[in-house]
Amino acid sequence: MLYSDLCSFYGRIEELSGRLEMTDQLVELYRITPLELIETVVRLTKGEIRPGYEGLEMGVAEKLVLKALYMVTMLPVEEIEEERVRKGDIGSAAEILVGKKRQTSLFHEPLTVTRVFTSLTRIASVEGRSSQDLKLKLIAELLHDSTPMEAKYLTRTVCQKMRLGIADMTQIDALSYHNTPGIDELGDFLVHNGLPLDDGLVQAVRKHLATAMSTLAETRTLIKEKGMEKDVVRSMTERVQKIRSVVQENRETIVRAYNIHPDLGYIASLLASGGIGNMGHINVTPGIPLRAMLGERLPSISGIMEKMGGKVALEYKYDGLRVQAHITDMGKNVILFSRQLENITDQFPDVAGYLGSMFKGQDCILEGECVPVESGTGRMLPFQVISQRRGRKYDLEDKIEEVPVILVLFDCLYLNGSEYIGKPYLERRDAIRQAIPDLSERMDTGSGLALSRMEIMTDADEGENFFLVALDDGCEGVMAKSVGEGSIYQAGNRGWLWIKYKKDYHSELMDTMDLVIIGAYHGSGRRGGTFGAFLMAAYDSDDDVFRTICKLGSGFNDRHLEELPALLTELQVPGGQNPKVDTRMEPDVYIIPSIVLEVKAAEITFSPVHTCAWGYLKDNAGLALRFPRFTGRIRDDKGPYDATTVREVIGLYGQQIKSL
Ligand code: AMP
Repeated sequence: MLYSDLCSFYGRIEELSGRLEMTDQLVELYRITPLELIETVVRLTKGEIRPGYEGLEMGVAEKLVLKALYMVTMLPVEEIEEERVRKGDIGSAAEILVGKKRQTSLFHEPLTVTRVFTSLTRIASVEGRSSQDLKLKLIAELLHDSTPMEAKYLTRTVCQKMRLGIADMTQIDALSYHNTPGIDELGDFLVHNGLPLDDGLVQAVRKHLATAMSTLAETRTLIKEKGMEKDVVRSMTERVQKIRSVVQENRETIVRAYNIHPDLGYIASLLASGGIGNMGHINVTPGIPLRAMLGERLPSISGIMEKMGGKVALEYKYDGLRVQAHITDMGKNVILFSRQLENITDQFPDVAGYLGSMFKGQDCILEGECVPVESGTGRMLPFQVISQRRGRKYDLEDKIEEVPVILVLFDCLYLNGSEYIGKPYLERRDAIRQAIPDLSERMDTGSGLALSRMEIMTDADEGENFFLVALDDGCEGVMAKSVGEGSIYQAGNRGWLWIKYKKDYHSELMDTMDLVIIGAYHGSGRRGGTFGAFLMAAYDSDDDVFRTICKLGSGFNDRHLEELPALLTELQVPGGQNPKVDTRMEPDVYIIPSIVLEVKAAEITFSPVHTCAWGYLKDNAGLALRFPRFTGRIRDDKGPYDATTVREVIGLYGQQIKSL
């Protein structure tokens, strides 16, 4: 398979914003991909050669790529650098520059997908003294043989800035169609009945397969227009329905597998080698992070009690950093993952040490919240303190002493060869104690580990008391957990088995929201030369786009205003509108959705300018935040797809109405 075939798809996908159209392109891409290359193509499309949680970096700075471009094009250095600045993106600059070279160079060998992947793997894996020279040589070799379009995606991949805007869930949608029995057969059936399989029909059928029943009528009309007999239409409809249910079943099966083994490349390779049945072979494995279970929210303890059948386990909701600890080799090997599934072991060697020495068993996966505490007393400190530890390489030793942390464990997902995610809550909690017998609910700086404080309650007033004590102790609220038979660990899901209740519900109408920056406005006066406000969006996971909800200008201190522009320059969209963003407001600068800020507000109102839930509750209006302000917390533990969703905003609006 030629790399240029792949790049043509990327070019088309980049132009699209709708999830369905993107899925269509991916379905087609995977259809023409030879089985043995599916894994490679899925990885390249994600812009990586290994799953993110393995933390393999390309180790290539843009400077090196510019050097390679110089070697290949022989254009003046100034021209190369100017182009990079003008385009604001290494890929688009490379496309133009290599385009200029082509006129002079005669010989090149077409790039294959395999060659590109092999070279990229080498680029990422070379280490040592002359590694930069070797990386340069490998990049130049690829660029020498690439067309302008290939150069665009190659350079982006090498710089780890692929940014096609394809969410993993969209890739999964596309993989659910892959090899679905019946799709080809359906084509034969249509052709056999005198119906040409033209684009319009194929699209209509796909749309129906992917979405709700409403499009079935569309499909039917289309077929009728083509003059088909009634019974043929019926038979066709039945077939479509059958395929649709298979695709949907496939999707659920793949999502389940992905939640416990979030590596799309691996999933695709299993699908290619043995079909959907292979998903059953994916199990929880120490060393491979599971996607986190999350909780819904309700504004009162009594509401929570009612929802959970009158009996709940209330736990402190600690305000820190979620950590998933994978312990193997009887404690000799410990890996810590963040909620974003990044390997953060290096930043918390102290925590890894505590776990390794106190663990009693063969292997296990535990989950907890890592909270900063005052040394000696164990008193909890604000979450922000912990960010001083993140990303540190050099003075980490000092920071470990200065900012001690305690890992408060609240779940066990695997123990001594057995999966625990399917077991009920109380059994999993027992397993934590089994894994680490010397564990107490006291915040003991000596041991560095604790068990989350928990009480089982049947009375709402008692629950309210527990909540107030949690606040006194420095928590942000409580987490209610179902204790029923079905209280399993739902990896990758936000469900009603866990419900959070936070102090914000007391003082204000709402919980905080985690919103994504999608645009910025230049500041004036004291904020001249920096940004004065940001255009914020919620994530619409149904359509895979970001929809605006407020313009955010308050709550920023001087340090934020200094830090944010630096974070944002890399993310500015050259030339305006970002296709993944739905906005009716025009910021001065568009920003690639990436940075998540925690935002508080007084209430949710209807708005004629914001597109969050546009037309959902009211015609020609969306939902917006009134008096939004930044809490001071940059949620660097969350990516754009973890932001508060449009559905959640609609839910919060509903709660607000109720509480009024
Ligand atoms: P939120 O980020 O507001 O949706 O709240 C969910 C987060 O609360 C989880 O991802 C955990 O990091 C954190 N958390 C703190 N304490 C607990 C607890 N006892 N049980 C579960 N999650 C907790």
